[in-house]
Amino acid sequence: MLIVAVLVIVSMVTWATVTKLEQQHTKTVKNDLTTLARNLSDELTDVLGKSSNNAARVTHSEDTPALTTTAPELLALSPNLLSNIQPIMKRVSAYQNIVEARLYSTNKKLLHRQVATAGYNQGLSQNDDLVLLLESPSGTYRVGQHLIASRRILEDGVTYGYLMLINDINSTISQNRQAILWRILPLLVIALLITTFLGMLWLNRLLNPLTSLSRFTHQLSQSKDYTQRFETKAKGEVARLGQNFNMLLDTIEAELTINDEQNQTLLEQQQTMARLANYDSLTGLPNRQFVVDNLRLELARARRQSKDLALMFFDLDGFKGINDSLGHETGDLILIEVADRVANMLRESDLVARLGGDEFIIVPDRDVTDASLENLAHRVIGAFEEPFHFRGLALTVGVSIGIARASEANFELSQLMSNADLAMYRSKARGRGISTIFTNEMIETHKRKLLIANSIDNALINNEFVLFYQPKIASGGQVVGLEALMRWQHPEFGLLSPGEFIPVAEQSGKISALTRWVIEQVSSDLPLMQSVIPHKFRVAINLSAHDLRHTRLFDVIHTIFTEQQVNPEYIEFEVTESAYLENFISADKFFKRLSNMGCAIALDDFGTGYSSLSYLTQISIDTLKIDRQFVRDISTCHRSRLVTGSIIDLAKRLSLTVCAEGVEELNQWDYLLDHGCDHVQGYLFSKPVPLEKIALLPNHFAFHSTP
Ligand code: C2E
Ligand code: CA
Ligand code: CA
Repeated sequence: MLIVAVLVIVSMVTWATVTKLEQQHTKTVKNDLTTLARNLSDELTDVLGKSSNNAARVTHSEDTPALTTTAPELLALSPNLLSNIQPIMKRVSAYQNIVEARLYSTNKKLLHRQVATAGYNQGLSQNDDLVLLLESPSGTYRVGQHLIASRRILEDGVTYGYLMLINDINSTISQNRQAILWRILPLLVIALLITTFLGMLWLNRLLNPLTSLSRFTHQLSQSKDYTQRFETKAKGEVARLGQNFNMLLDTIEAELTINDEQNQTLLEQQQTMARLANYDSLTGLPNRQFVVDNLRLELARARRQSKDLALMFFDLDGFKGINDSLGHETGDLILIEVADRVANMLRESDLVARLGGDEFIIVPDRDVTDASLENLAHRVIGAFEEPFHFRGLALTVGVSIGIARASEANFELSQLMSNADLAMYRSKARGRGISTIFTNEMIETHKRKLLIANSIDNALINNEFVLFYQPKIASGGQVVGLEALMRWQHPEFGLLSPGEFIPVAEQSGKISALTRWVIEQVSSDLPLMQSVIPHKFRVAINLSAHDLRHTRLFDVIHTIFTEQQVNPEYIEFEVTESAYLENFISADKFFKRLSNMGCAIALDDFGTGYSSLSYLTQISIDTLKIDRQFVRDISTCHRSRLVTGSIIDLAKRLSLTVCAEGVEELNQWDYLLDHGCDHVQGYLFSKPVPLEKIALLPNHFAFHSTP
């Protein structure tokens, strides 16, 4: 476009110059031609005037042959005249561009014709057209390609003829034009080249920053490195474009940084979520979710490979009591330590997880024979032998373990977990700190338990429960108390022992109703007992741990006693040490109120639960009941003798009454008597008997001492 523009401009300038020059040239030529015509006509006037004077006038004669003319139509001139005219006319030959000179007679006939350029005869009519010009005033005219000067040859008002000079102005002009063009063409070319070069240079300078910006963006899109910036020395639009582009990059970089940060946060959140979802925040062990997910896969694999797999559940004995009496923080610390101890004694390939609360699970990576599983369970129990030390307290916490095999659960996760759970509850029921391997028989037991639990409500309505009473004997042999023990005349299972249905009632939340029934029954039985036993005695009512959580129990007792006019001094409440300690604060308050009312409190099964004795000084009890297991072994086991003696001794020091239960043999009683045991209870004296048989009990139990 630039070149075209330059070409157009140069052409226009050239055209204007040439035109101007041509105009000037035409003017000059016109003047010259006029002057020449004037001069020649003056000279011809002389010649023609003289010849006229000599009467040698130019006449018209068609016969007279022309002397020097080329055209046959020329009139004849006298030879003399012709010789005078010819030299004058010939002078036009000196002028390059005058192509012809003509001399006309007064009546406008061509007298003489001088052709300067041989053979020239272009564009001019021979005669007629030009003759018309003679009628115009003397002057120079442009006719087509020619400049024609026409002049009247006259003197003193007498016309002698006409002179006509014809100039081929066109060829002059074209010659001139060529000459001019040839002269200015190199200049034009040079100007064009310079302009083009400068134009390119300028364009290049102008476009260079844009090109580098374009290159930069391309490179940026390839590398995606948005930390780069565009640098330019250019000013103006491109610099501004560059700045804007850099600003855009700043924004992109800032956005990318924010994006990166957000991504990072998201990633961290995702990891936290995964951790939270799969790990227990307290102990750091995998949680239930993790185990469930993993076990599902493991079970599927085990089933495919026809391998067996075992699951071990365990929970802490009396953990709730620790939580309630020592606070949740201590409870948490114990859980952390438990997790540590168990994890440390396991192999890396064994999986240990916390299911929640004080429940843990182990998926052992070892063979599933009884021996191997029992060995592992034994080691887990062993890990709890060492007491936990917290805040100056040494706490021994036991575990109950339940083990189940996948093959016995048809490799189904929920079944397997439920089996392990059953086995664990079996451990708890058998006495804590032991392990049980699941057997199918447990499912039957479980079903029976469910049936029992579901029929308690009806049993109360149908009066299926009965109370038996077992006497407590003082060292002198007289009855000092009667322990109320429940029996259930079940329509389907026959006579059920409380050892079976009390735990079921506790687990199914039905124990409160049973306790209430017992209190009411004892209250209504009491007058009869009072009528057959003439001296003061106490009827013992057993309470379970669940009863102590029932805050309104005191009111219930108070109401019943008031309604039935029961003298509280005839009543004793028995509670196990674990039940007391598991609900220490509320239990202590409850028993203090009962004590104040006149009831006695006995700590049942003493020696089987907590081994820390420090609490004994803090609780409100009257009697310690030595557990049957120690009494049973008195004659055979030195340790049992030692424990029994120590408990009696301890009770004496704390001014507590001691009662030994489960006395079946005379030598046991002897031993107990020797050590100062206050009361005894056992088959040696009487099994629990129904109310109506109390009257048959001897007033005084006496045995011959063994020698
Ligand atoms: P317990 O409170 O320790 O009651 C003593 C248990 O030992 C009674 O078993 C009794 O029959 C048994 N016994 C007494 N002397 C001997 C003996 O010389 N040899 C042997 N082998 N056993 C003896 P029972 O009646 O089967 O009661 C079992 C447990 O059921 C009781 O243990 C008590 O914890 C619970 N229980 C019974 N009745 C009630 C009740 O009304 N409420 C609550 N909460 N628990 C009850
Ligand atoms: Ca008892
Ligand atoms: Ca007992």
